[in-house]
Amino acid sequence: MRFTYVLLVLFCFSCNNPINKQPAIAIHGGAGIILKGDLSSEKEKLIIEKLDEAISHGYEILKSTGSSTDAVVETIKILENSPLFNAGKGAVFTNQGTIEHDASIMNGENLNAGASTGTMHVKNPITLAHSIMTNSEHVFLSREGAEDFAKSQNLEIVEQDYFYTDFRFNQLEKQKNSISKFGTVGCVAIDINGNLAAGTSTGGMTNKKWGRIGDSPIIGAGTYANNKTCAVSCTGSGEYFIRSVVAYDVSALMEYQKLSLKDAVFKVIHKKLPSIGGDGGLIAIDNKGNIIMDFNTPGMYRASINKDGEKNIAIYVE
Ligand code: ASP
Repeated sequence: MRFTYVLLVLFCFSCNNPINKQPAIAIHGGAGIILKGDLSSEKEKLIIEKLDEAISHGYEILKSTGSSTDAVVETIKILENSPLFNAGKGAVFTNQGTIEHDASIMNGENLNAGASTGTMHVKNPITLAHSIMTNSEHVFLSREGAEDFAKSQNLEIVEQDYFYTDFRFNQLEKQKNSISKFGTVGCVAIDINGNLAAGTSTGGMTNKKWGRIGDSPIIGAGTYANNKTCAVSCTGSGEYFIRSVVAYDVSALMEYQKLSLKDAVFKVIHKKLPSIGGDGGLIAIDNKGNIIMDFNTPGMYRASINKDGEKNIAIYVE
């Protein structure tokens, strides 16, 4: 009798277990020197509307039993198709006047991952990272080889002209003597089965040279997901994020030091990364659906819908 009662309680607990039932999602559109007043109110409105569209779409996928991986891909596609962010359509120019994309994705359930770097004709680099993860025996493909694989997967291929925007071209002209970054996009999600996923997509840094690769396509640096701990997508000064192995470090602090997501992110973003000169931020979600969006720059484009369905969209430090 007592045993049956325990089983019943356990059964009811698992039915109401928020870990398995309530999806949650967060996105970023880049971190950097984003100061109030620098953005026109018109541009601010456009960015907020696009973040809203993307996060709402991703959340709908999760609500209708879609996987966190699918939600990450479809949400990032919306941001890649917008000229407002440094990814896909709005990506920055290299020193040579080309546009070269990096992207990555990771599935926290099985630690599968896919990533690509230096592609110039794949319309949605996040779909390429996803195809590498699901349809190849590799994790990381580069440049022409990655594009050949994209063609073999029937992914949409476009001319470089498609990615051209006046805004980014003028940015290159102004920044010929420096490199700068801004506007990378990323998404982390937990689905109704409690599976985590993370993805990141970028054009990298304006004026980048010599085939430079940042943290965004590097699993463990810019992107990481593990059902044991959390899913993370980063944005910021890629060289420092690589050296600090930021995304994996957050997960490792949770796994080995038993830190909460909040404390792990704080330690990495406000202590470890700045101690070597790194700036930027990240979005993360743990396996209970808690969301953290934190940064050490004046702003980070970001949005989330938590496990209670509450939406939050913000740009500046609150
Ligand atoms: N982390 C990206 C890179 O270094 C840039 C960014 O996030 O803005 O390529």
